[in-house]
Amino acid sequence: SSKRLDIITVFPEMVMQVARYGVVGKAVERGLAEIAVWNPRDYAEDRHGTVDDRPYGGGPGMVMKAAPLRAAIRSARLADGRPARVIYLSPQGQRLDQQGVARLARHKRLILLCGRYEGIDERLIEAEVDEEVSIGDYVLSGGELPAMVVVDAIVRMIPGVLGHEDSAAEDSFATGLLDHPHYTRPDDFEGRTVPRVLRSGDHGAVEEWRLKQALGRTWLRRPELLSNRELEPRQQKLLDE
Ligand code: SAM
Repeated sequence: SSKRLDIITVFPEMVMQVARYGVVGKAVERGLAEIAVWNPRDYAEDRHGTVDDRPYGGGPGMVMKAAPLRAAIRSARLADGRPARVIYLSPQGQRLDQQGVARLARHKRLILLCGRYEGIDERLIEAEVDEEVSIGDYVLSGGELPAMVVVDAIVRMIPGVLGHEDSAAEDSFATGLLDHPHYTRPDDFEGRTVPRVLRSGDHGAVEEWRLKQALGRTWLRRPELLSNRELEPRQQKLLDE
């Protein structure tokens, strides 16, 4: 059974772009992931398709109304028999990292709710949302880009989606370390050559070099990743050298 992601957004054409290209596009084509969009405008209570209104208490901006969002979420839920977890993309949510992605990826169905304007009527969040997820400590003008980020990150983790089975397991963060550098032809690019060990054919040496690079980079760029985890004995030995 494939993974299903339903996105609630006033800009469906924007988020569907993520389903057209590259790894996600292939996964959709092969039926490993299903992505659907629901526009709360189609569920507005008036014929103008109003989905926002002025905030109680005054102040600038508009707030997304609860009723059209609730109706869109209900339709999304009914589109598939399996239970869905509703995620509101929000700067106030738990900040996403690779572990968070792996946790979300365990659900067969997610409904991703994209806010706009000043945000969503709090009562809709109380009534329908299971979890709020942020993609970082900055504010965007809508939840569509965050939803696309979540879709991309989750789909990469579906078994069989990535061509080479191991490539997700070796990416940055999957191992708890940043990835090692990569090289392809030519051997000499404007005077910069490829590290000789990578052309040696000695797989053991290549593996050790890559691990050293990954450890070194992580140490220099993101030392907190190292202090937050237990290194394997082999990794600790290389770091001590
Ligand atoms: N007033 C809200 C606040 O300060 O929490 C921000 C609203 S923001 C302008 C509009 C929408 O963009 C939000 O409802 C949310 O869906 C989305 N959004 C903005 N920044 C985000 C982030 N860092 N992560 C996830 N979603 C975000």
